[in-house]
Amino acid sequence: MARKFFVGGNWKCNGTTEEVKKIATALNEGKVPSQDVVEVVVSPPFVFLPLVKGLLRPDFHVAAQNCWVKKGGAYTGEVSAEMLVNLDIPWVIIGHSERRLILGESNEFVGDKVAYALSKGLKVIACVGETLEQRESGSTMDVVAAQTKAIAERITDWENVVVAYEPVWAIGTGKVATPAQAQEVHCELRNWIHANTTPEVAATTRIIYGGSVNGANCKELAAQPDVDGFLVGGASLKPEFIDIIKSAE
Ligand code: PEP
Repeated sequence: MARKFFVGGNWKCNGTTEEVKKIATALNEGKVPSQDVVEVVVSPPFVFLPLVKGLLRPDFHVAAQNCWVKKGGAYTGEVSAEMLVNLDIPWVIIGHSERRLILGESNEFVGDKVAYALSKGLKVIACVGETLEQRESGSTMDVVAAQTKAIAERITDWENVVVAYEPVWAIGTGKVATPAQAQEVHCELRNWIHANTTPEVAATTRIIYGGSVNGANCKELAAQPDVDGFLVGGASLKPEFIDIIKSAE
C-alpha cells in the first residue's frame, strides 16, 4: 500500500492573531497537489488553534503541539487530549525534541502520551531523533530505536501514527541532513519497526523528516524512498511552505 506524502508545519511558539491570519490566508491561496497526493497539517500554538482551524481551507488540517499524558484535571497549564477532541482538533505532535530536551520529557513519558492521545481518537505525529553528540558517538540508531520502542511497547495500532525523524542538530540550525543521511535512518527505522511490530505496520507507517527543510532542499529529500514527507518548523511560517508541499509530486 502506498504511503501518502505528509507535510506538517510546526509553528512552535510564534505568532500574533494578525500574523497567523496572514499565514492562513497565504496557505489558502497556495496551489498544491490534491488531498489524494498529500496530507497537509499545520500546528499553531494552542491559543490560535480554533482561529486557524476556522480559517483554513478544508483540505488543510490542524495539529496541537502537545497534550497532557492522561485525563485532564489538576494539571495547571496543561491541555488534555479530551479538550483537543472536544474542539475537533484531529492531530497532535508528541515528543518534539524541544519538549524532550528543554522540558525533560522522557521516552516513557512520550510513549505514555502517544498511547493516551491515540486512545482518545487523536492522530499523532511522534517525533524521534538524536543529538549531535549522539550522532558523533555513533549511537543514532540506538537512540532512535529506544525512543520508538517506548512507543511500540504502549500501542498496537499504528494507523493513526506518523513518525517524524528529526535529528536535533538539524532543527532550526540551517544544517539539513543530506538526503543520504535521512534515507539511511528512515530505512533503518523502518527495518526496526518491521522487526518489532509487524511487516504491515512497517510498510504503511509514514516516516517523515524534519530539520531545516526548505523550498530549496525539499525535492531531493522527498525523492528518497523511505522519506514520506516532512515536519517543517521555520519554513512553515513562510511562503516557501507551499513549495515544500509541492515536493509531494
Ligand atoms: C521542527 O521544529 O520540527 C523543525 C523541523 O524545525 P526547522 O524546520 O526550523 O528545523
